[in-house]
Amino acid sequence: MIFNLFPEKSRQTAVLLIYTGGTIGMKEDPVDGTLKPFDFNGILEEVPELRKFTLRIDSHTFDPLIDSSDVEPSLWQALASLILERYDDYDGFVILHGTDTMAYSASALSFMLENLGKPVIFTGSQLPIGSLRTDGKENLISAVEIATAKDSHGHPMVPEVCICFNSQLFRGNRSVKVNATGFDAFKSPNYPPLATAGISIKYNNSFIHYGYDRRKGLSIHTVLDTRVSVLKLHPGITEQAVRDILLGSGSRAVILETYGSGNAPCRPWFLDIVREASRSKILLNVTQCQSGDVDMDIYATGRTLKDAGVICGHDITTESALGKLFYLMGRHEDNSQVKTLLEKNLKGEISK
Ligand code: ASP
Repeated sequence: MIFNLFPEKSRQTAVLLIYTGGTIGMKEDPVDGTLKPFDFNGILEEVPELRKFTLRIDSHTFDPLIDSSDVEPSLWQALASLILERYDDYDGFVILHGTDTMAYSASALSFMLENLGKPVIFTGSQLPIGSLRTDGKENLISAVEIATAKDSHGHPMVPEVCICFNSQLFRGNRSVKVNATGFDAFKSPNYPPLATAGISIKYNNSFIHYGYDRRKGLSIHTVLDTRVSVLKLHPGITEQAVRDILLGSGSRAVILETYGSGNAPCRPWFLDIVREASRSKILLNVTQCQSGDVDMDIYATGRTLKDAGVICGHDITTESALGKLFYLMGRHEDNSQVKTLLEKNLKGEISK
């Protein structure tokens, strides 16, 4: 149900706050001291500053509210459907979400929302909005401002799925959670911030993607194939562990988290398993490093993976690789088609 936070005012520019759960919407229970979600329709009590916006602000609360460790693709499908359903009613959307899996959700939504022409801004906080030193107020207020910002022609400043956190705006499918406790919880290691909030909000226009077609509306892709596993290489990894993940029957694709610029052991048993797996599965090479990209032509150990049919992930994050695979495999039965599209920059997720 959509709840109008300022029923007394009818305003032209409108934003929908979608609350899914996470720390931002919690308050300390005065009785037992634990953090519990509060009724989000009472957000004005916690953030009276929202009244200062000359906007219509509506809210939609998911039921049940979840810690984002419990996020499943069904939440992304519900978010995409809600945005599609209410697309014409709002200038932008702000999604309040736990920080733990926010980068996964923002990545997935960037692929699921086709021809997005309005801002979809994820935010959350490290401290509950009801606590004294909360970072939630600043994050929420900046997110609302960005979600409704227009250029001089009346077009949205950032028609993308983004994460707004700690005064910075990042492309959703480039973001990673890098700090479990600090307010600078997110970074976009391989792509510049799309905006920075100081005294005013400075937009990095040349890095914002404006590639939507105004004549066409939004459409969504909600069929996701989640048969993906992740194998993180490490010294001492056993043959059995590699065999279980690469040849296990439950996956259609495996993200190989490799070393450096896409390198892996060159021991024969390892390469034999990779070759066998790549005959029937999609193997995607993503680096364990935070910045930089995979180039399988630099070292012999990388070249062997390429020769075995492993696809280059370039500078994609694991979070984004997961969403891209779910989306592409949901759309295409044929693995070779998925492999071809994995190499392409679809939503600004790779520098290519
Ligand atoms: N565990 C919480 C969540 O991701 C943490 C947070 O919101 O910051 O839902």
